[in-house]
Amino acid sequence: MAQATNAVEAKTRSYVTGLRCRLCRAEYPEQPVAICEECFGPLEVEYNYAALAQVISRELIASRPPTMWRYGELLPLSVPPRVGAETGYTPLVPAPRLGAVLGLKNLYIKNDGVCHPTLSFKDRVVAVSLSKACEFGFDTVGCASTGNLANSVAANAARAGLKAYVFIPETLEQAKILGTQIYGARVIAIHGTYDDVNRLCSEIVYNLNWGLVNVNLRPFYSEGSKTVGFEIAEQLGWRAPDAVVVPMAGGSLLTKIHKAFAELQHLGLTPPARPRIFGAQARGCNPIVAAIKEGSEEIRPVKPRTIAHSLAIGDPADGYFAVRAIRESGGWAEDATDEEILEGIRLLAETEGIFTEAAGGVTVAVTKKLAAQRRLSPDETVVLTITGNGLKTTEALTALPPITIAPKIAEVERLLREGM
Ligand SMILES: *Cc1c(COP(=O)(O)O)cnc(C)c1O
Ligand SMILES: [Zn+2]
Repeated sequence: MAQATNAVEAKTRSYVTGLRCRLCRAEYPEQPVAICEECFGPLEVEYNYAALAQVISRELIASRPPTMWRYGELLPLSVPPRVGAETGYTPLVPAPRLGAVLGLKNLYIKNDGVCHPTLSFKDRVVAVSLSKACEFGFDTVGCASTGNLANSVAANAARAGLKAYVFIPETLEQAKILGTQIYGARVIAIHGTYDDVNRLCSEIVYNLNWGLVNVNLRPFYSEGSKTVGFEIAEQLGWRAPDAVVVPMAGGSLLTKIHKAFAELQHLGLTPPARPRIFGAQARGCNPIVAAIKEGSEEIRPVKPRTIAHSLAIGDPADGYFAVRAIRESGGWAEDATDEEILEGIRLLAETEGIFTEAAGGVTVAVTKKLAAQRRLSPDETVVLTITGNGLKTTEALTALPPITIAPKIAEVERLLREGM
């Protein structure tokens, strides 16, 4: 028995050396803590890259099953994942018909709207953070969520047999509430915005010994997002695209995609070229875009008013770092109005057969603007990260009542004559 455990541990050896503050660089041991005691900066997982470089290779990765765990050495688990073993490796789809509309000849969609098990990229961050919660021995877990995280925490907690409390703003879409309750999670809606929910969750962590995936487990949670970047590079034949367009809520996904391409290059897995990273937000909640356009590093919090609920974070935790990543990469950021978001959802559906949620509508609409501004050029390889599934946010759209006829061929012929 002891021998079997040792064998597994050897195979999944962790390359994590500890946690480090992203602002003052103070070091901490690996523990469920997200904030620096010295300066209140965010903590990040640190790896032994020299040791990693000795073991990791394209061939080793390619020999593994098509899930996010094929990059396991670059993720912060010490034992095999307790949940989400099947998550990730979503399709990278060429999008020539959307590209023709936008004037981009080499456009791709990274479609996390079909991620397992809850149809958004949040399944990646939850796979890491809930597995880590099990390593730390938490029996109660949860999150502050704008919707997709709630779904994923609830589903994965059910599978791991953990008790889950999920805190959401009161304005959330019905499908996202149902898609959380169905797994037996306790759903608690808060009078207020996501930012109020998040503040409350910081107090919960302080008072109760719970593992909240995006609060005290945040350093581990956010590392899961890197796998979006790893997969894009591998699926392009081990190279970075010229540009990636990423929707931003707290700004974590964008900073971690940026980090992923840096790690691949550092480890010699891709040639030395990194993508320009472009951020996308809704006009009604655009604090990171505003900072980029003002040439500032300071994020001024806003009160969200947008149909893109999954991006409605007015005071983004990683906003400062998202601004830095965008600038360092030579990218830019844009926002989209509710009307443009709906148009973006329809455009992606009608050209590429992919139904995305409002966040995806933001990404498509922003890409259209960036192409029109010539910040993306026609021959470049551009990847849109589509992060969530449209069937969860149908409230944002109104279905037209279908034309109803008698079951007669003459009726069909009449409709065609009338120009249907
Ligand atoms: C959470 C979320 C994002 C952005 O996440 P951050 O890492 O907080 O910026 C993007 N798209 C969807 C669909 C999401 O649920
Ligand atoms: Zn610090």
